[in-house]
Amino acid sequence: MRVKIRKGDTVEVISGRLEDKGKRGEVINVLLEDRRVVVQGVNIRTKHQKQVQTQAGRNINPGRIQFEGPIDISNVMLVCPACGEPTRVGYRLLADGGKVRACRRANCGKDIDRV
Ligand SMILES: [Zn+2]
Repeated sequence: MRVKIRKGDTVEVISGRLEDKGKRGEVINVLLEDRRVVVQGVNIRTKHQKQVQTQAGRNINPGRIQFEGPIDISNVMLVCPACGEPTRVGYRLLADGGKVRACRRANCGKDIDRV
């Protein structure tokens, strides 16, 4: 199955962790082999860092570092830039042999971008 979500897309979380459901964010990474995506502000994980001592003998604590963990690609839907609603993605063939992604909502159906 082809991956229809791309880096830079805005997606909405439709299933998965309750606290992430309904969130929208930009796709910052697509992990094709795992069929997972990293979405800005979704699936936030916290990494705790140890205290480190500087040469001057001061302890500094970089503290908690927050980052987005990958989520399954089937948990997100593309947000159509034309109608602003989450949609499945269709393809439309162009006369020149190219292809565009298109919104599958009946009341929209607009082209999204060329692939
Ligand atoms: Zn649309």
